[in-house]
Amino acid sequence: MSLHSIRARRAGHQHPLILRLASGFRRFQRRWYHPEEPLFQSLKNGQNPLALVIACCDSRVDPVLLTDCRPGDLFVVRNVANLVPPYAPDGGRHGVSAALEYAVKHLGVQDVIIMGHACCGGIHALVSGGDGEEGDEFIGPWVDVARRALNKVNETMPDANAADKARACEMWNVRLSLDNLLTFPWVNEAVCEGRLTLHGWYFDLQSGELLEYDAEDRVFHPLVGRPHLGDRAAHPGTPRRS
Ligand SMILES: [Zn+2]
Repeated sequence: MSLHSIRARRAGHQHPLILRLASGFRRFQRRWYHPEEPLFQSLKNGQNPLALVIACCDSRVDPVLLTDCRPGDLFVVRNVANLVPPYAPDGGRHGVSAALEYAVKHLGVQDVIIMGHACCGGIHALVSGGDGEEGDEFIGPWVDVARRALNKVNETMPDANAADKARACEMWNVRLSLDNLLTFPWVNEAVCEGRLTLHGWYFDLQSGELLEYDAEDRVFHPLVGRPHLGDRAAHPGTPRRS
């Protein structure tokens, strides 16, 4: 079956998901392609994002949505468990490295943010055995990039329960991704020269807090604390972008 026939069949049946997404795209058009909204007039000529964000694929942790950013604000890489494999100039197909190279060398971003999160399925796979579910081919080898984070957890809290280990591993993994960024010589150079700043964030989707890694204290502090009840009253569940 060709891709064309798959698309045509779904369109013919007015697939509910596609209708919903198309409706959302119309709202996007009304918001950003309005004649009085000049943003896309500017973006048609190129992008100048504020930062590179490396986040997880998880549907609950969209960096643009979480930070209420506009189109063009963030250059985003998403992968299972927000990993940054270390520098490996071996001719392989390194998607994260390619995006990092483009953001740093060509877009000249001045900030790179690693955004980890609570309840990460990728980290859970690593903590629970590292090989993924039976029959999986790619998850185990991929999350093994974070093996050093798991080793740290097992060294520092060997008797902790699985949930506490997973949370700690999610945070160690943010630190590991920051360390791995520095294995790229042109990232290391830019950081040393003050042209680039690295940030480690952790979105605790259970408490609603956003934590920031403090490299001096080597702990995560709240960047944005728990949501206030008043905040919810002001935005009672209605998506702001709709
Ligand atoms: Zn995740």
